Amino acid sequence: MPELPEVETIRRGLMERLVGRQITGIRVRQALLRERVAVDTLQTHVVGRTVAGIDRRAKYLLARLGPEGILVFHLGMTGRLWLGTPAAQDAPHDHLVFHLGPDLELRFHDVRRFGMCFYTTVTQLPEHPRFRHLGPEPLSPDFSSAYLQERARGLWKPVKNFLMDASIVVGVGNIYASEALFLAGVHPNREVGRLRGQHWQRVCSAIKEVLQAAIDAHGTSFSDYVDSDGRRGAFQNQLLVYGREGQPCVRDGRLLKRIVQAGRSTFYCARCQR
Ligand SMILES: [Zn+2]
Repeated sequence: MPELPEVETIRRGLMERLVGRQITGIRVRQALLRERVAVDTLQTHVVGRTVAGIDRRAKYLLARLGPEGILVFHLGMTGRLWLGTPAAQDAPHDHLVFHLGPDLELRFHDVRRFGMCFYTTVTQLPEHPRFRHLGPEPLSPDFSSAYLQERARGLWKPVKNFLMDASIVVGVGNIYASEALFLAGVHPNREVGRLRGQHWQRVCSAIKEVLQAAIDAHGTSFSDYVDSDGRRGAFQNQLLVYGREGQPCVRDGRLLKRIVQAGRSTFYCARCQR
């Protein structure tokens, strides 16, 4: 499943080649994604418009169309955006095709169809049901140790689950939550209401550090993640704890453990993380 660093990598790839291009047509082969694609809305508001920029909010890609329009993509579990010269044939699971003149097209490909594509506007976005509950971006100045401490006050949930709650902070998925807590030296089961300022400072800076390092490595490729040019990420080679149950900790050699929290595997070192 693409997480924030992978979506950010895709955004950067799309920025290089999509900005300034006009969307000359849309072909919808399968409208039944996680939400039904509003074909008429796309034909009315997207066709004929020029891509002014590509932004990201959480794991959503936002293609800005002029001053108001936004074409939104979410990749779900298995979605891919494929930018290239027009294909001679449609591949299975190519659901949407955006024509960008005679020499370029963008394909939305999604085997499991948990992805989404919809149109909104700059004005509507803050109150949009998919966006209004989202917490701050982890790499923005709004995301600070003081903010985390304030949100954690009086809560008793484990810190790993707290960090994966998108209303607290967006884009800290399962892999990066494990990695950040290892860097911070905080046990994933610690109750957030009991953590102090020094813990939150370490957690906050570890999250920023691990996400930035993953973006710099063009994301993590475990199974099938590739960016818009088909390149794989490299951060899987830098993971310190995730997926390493039973292997020695890089700091003290103690064997790493795995526990399941909220149905997801967490990896940690019982000596380094307290
Ligand atoms: Zn250790």
